[in-house]
Amino acid sequence: MQFQPILDEIAFQIQRELAQQGPRGQVARYIPALARVDAAQFGIALRTCDGQEAVAGDGQTPFSIQSISKVFTLTLAMRHMSEQALWARIGREPSGNPFNSLVQLEFEQGTPRNPFINAGAIAVADRIVALYGAGAQRELCGFMSHLAGEPIAYDEEVAASEAATGYRNHALANFMKSFGRIDHGVQEVLDLYFHQCALRMSCLQLARAAGYLCRDGAHPLQADAPVVSERQARRINALMLTCGTYDAAGEFAFRIGLPCKSGVGGGIVAVVPDRLTLAVWSPALDETGNSLLGMKALELFTTRTGLSVF
Ligand code: GLN
Repeated sequence: MQFQPILDEIAFQIQRELAQQGPRGQVARYIPALARVDAAQFGIALRTCDGQEAVAGDGQTPFSIQSISKVFTLTLAMRHMSEQALWARIGREPSGNPFNSLVQLEFEQGTPRNPFINAGAIAVADRIVALYGAGAQRELCGFMSHLAGEPIAYDEEVAASEAATGYRNHALANFMKSFGRIDHGVQEVLDLYFHQCALRMSCLQLARAAGYLCRDGAHPLQADAPVVSERQARRINALMLTCGTYDAAGEFAFRIGLPCKSGVGGGIVAVVPDRLTLAVWSPALDETGNSLLGMKALELFTTRTGLSVF
């Protein structure tokens, strides 16, 4: 299949809608540095298992990947920890609640429902601090650059903006700490969490970096360097399908039919196992914190190509 004309067509359609109607939805306002992003942008890019690439619209413009980073921190933790040590404190069930919700944590004794809601990602960040100590941020950035095949960096302004206003994340981390579910200092763990959310990448870089998820765990660019095992890659995809888009996971499965992970920067990464990884970006969000036009673009893509996990 030739993907470039398909992406061009989707970008044309979405950009025409943006020009005619303006962006619907809202950029993430609770993070001041994200509230300033121009909402009238749209990018899309993909990379196939055998290395074919296609990119359209603002597909090479870097943006704040936010919660998409949760896939990569989970991957890093899975690479280096025993299953037991990792999953002892983190569940694997969809939450059906907003990504930053506190309610279920109390019922479940400080154990987050899954690694892709904020509480779960903060618990994963604690595990990464356990692995790398003060070198955790450097290690994560190096891992992202290794996956993307080029240097990736943090946006320090976004990280500082979140640290200054991330009251809910502070609440989540303190609450888990009170149940003994976090071993390290709340500040240290949140510092890593805010930095992972502030990684700046384009759709094309994300499509490349997530390539191991459609390649049975093999490195996206180097065939001889597995990122995770085939079984682990399958498990990450399963978690993305059931938990990757929070309380919209059912709607994503229904309309798009692929494992996806979204972020409040407006990006979404989607996986077609054994075929390709796809990334879309448009900053305006719906009420569940998922990119409105990103979701529409993914729906157009799967409708047009017939690709689905079902
Ligand atoms: N940094 C954001 C937060 O913690 C990430 C949320 C998201 O992308 N869903 O609130």
